[in-house]
Amino acid sequence: MPGAKEKVCRVCKRIVVGNECDNCGSTNLTIRSSGLIIVVDPEKSEIAKELGLKKAGAYATKI
Ligand SMILES: [Zn+2]
Repeated sequence: MPGAKEKVCRVCKRIVVGNECDNCGSTNLTIRSSGLIIVVDPEKSEIAKELGLKKAGAYATKI
C-alpha cells in the first residue's frame, strides 16, 4: 500500500495501518512512536502479559 503510514493506537499501543485499530476498534491514533515489540504468542510472552496484550502483532513500547 504505497503512501500508507503506520500509526500507533493510543489505547492499546498496537501498530495500525489505516485509520482504525484492528485490535480495539479505536480511532485514537498517533503517528509518533518509539520502540517496537512484536508479539508472536501472547500467551507465552511475558512482555505481552505485562502490557496486557492479548493479540499477536506489532506494538509500540512508548507513544
Ligand atoms: Zn487499539
